Amino acid sequence: MDLKSNHSAPVLTDSAPLSKSRLGGIMKTGVLDDVRSSGWLDAMKSSSPPHKKFTKDLNHELSSPDPEVAYRTWLLKYPSALASFEQIANFAKGKRIALFLDYDGTLSPIVENPESAFMSDDMRSAVKKVAKYFPTAIISGRSRDKVYEFVGLTELYYAGSHGMDIMGPVRQSVSEDHPNCMKSTDKQGNEVNLFQPAREFLPMIDEVLSSLVKSTENIKGAQVENNKFCVSVHYRNVDEENWTAVWECVQDVIKKYPRLRMTHGRKVLEIRPMIDWDKGKALEFLLESLGFSNCDDVLPIYVGDDRTDEDAFKVLRERNCGYGILVSRSPKESNAYYSLRNPSEWEFPRTKFEMYSSFDLVLLEFKGKKRFLKDFFIYAVK
Ligand SMILES: [Mg+2]
Repeated sequence: MDLKSNHSAPVLTDSAPLSKSRLGGIMKTGVLDDVRSSGWLDAMKSSSPPHKKFTKDLNHELSSPDPEVAYRTWLLKYPSALASFEQIANFAKGKRIALFLDYDGTLSPIVENPESAFMSDDMRSAVKKVAKYFPTAIISGRSRDKVYEFVGLTELYYAGSHGMDIMGPVRQSVSEDHPNCMKSTDKQGNEVNLFQPAREFLPMIDEVLSSLVKSTENIKGAQVENNKFCVSVHYRNVDEENWTAVWECVQDVIKKYPRLRMTHGRKVLEIRPMIDWDKGKALEFLLESLGFSNCDDVLPIYVGDDRTDEDAFKVLRERNCGYGILVSRSPKESNAYYSLRNPSEWEFPRTKFEMYSSFDLVLLEFKGKKRFLKDFFIYAVK
C-alpha cells in the first residue's frame, strides 16, 4: 500500500481490488476522472454480499451456478474453522492464545442502519466466556467508544477507527517505542495504554465530517458516521442511481486534503489519515502490548469478515503465527487460513439470512455446543 505522505491522489492509494480500474499515471485528467469514477462504482457495487464474482485462482468449479457447490469447493482452500477444530486445537497445545475480533459482520449482523448493528446476547455471552480464559480484543472500524457501547464487556481490549485508537494493557517497553502512546485510565479506573497514532489528524477529520454531513444531506439514504479518526459514508440505503453522487461528494471533500485517503468496505466509503497504520499494525501493537510478540509460544486468532481485516490476516500469515478466520457466506480470496459460515445457511430464507452475521449463525447452529468453543480454548492451553 502506498502511504507516502506527499501523495497527491489519495484515492489511488487504496489497496482495494480494482485490478480492472487500477490507474496509471499517463491518462488525461478528464478520462482519469471518468475511469476513477466508474472503477470505484464497480467496487462500490461489488463491496457487499451476496458476492457473485469468484476469484480467478480458484478452480473452475467455483463458477458453478450452484452456490453450494461453489462454496464447498472454496472450503477446500479455506476450511471451516469449526470442522478443523481438532487440527487447530492440536496446534494450540502449549501455546498462549489471544483472540482478536472484528465487530460488524463478525460479532454483529450487517444491518440496514449501522446504528442498529447490535450483537446478540448469545454472542456477547460467548465472547465473555472466551475472554475469561484468553486475552481478547475487538479491532473495529467504528470509533472505540461506539464499539464499546455495542459490546459492553469491560474485560476486553478495544481498538477503534481501524486500529488508530487503541486502549490496551500497560507495557512500559511499548509506550517507550511508540511516541503517540500514553498512560491513561479506562472506564473502570484501571491503568491502560492509550495509543492514537493519528492524533494530529483529529481537527482535519472533524472538518471532513462537517463537510460531508452537509454535502450528502440531500442524498436520500446516505449516512455519515463519525468514527473519530475516520469518517464513514454509508450508501447501503442509497438508490444505486445515486451512488455516483455519493462518490463525488467524498471526492470533492477529500481532494482538499492530500494527507487523507479513501477506502471502501461493505457499502461504505471511508476517509482516513494517510498513515502507515491498519488493523494488521494494530494487531501487532496489541500482541506486543500483551507480551505476545514471540511467535514460538503464542497462537493469535483473528476473526473478521471485511477487506480491512485482510491486513491482520496477512500479518499472521507473514509471521507464520496464528490463524486468520474469514467470516464469509460466499467464496472470496483471502489471506485467512480458515473460514466460518453456517453449513445450513443456504437453507435460510433471505429475510432470515439477512438477519444474522455468519458468525452468529454458527453460534445459533451450534447453540448447544458453545461450550465446544470454550472447551477448545481450555483444552488448548493444557
Ligand atoms: Mg466487519
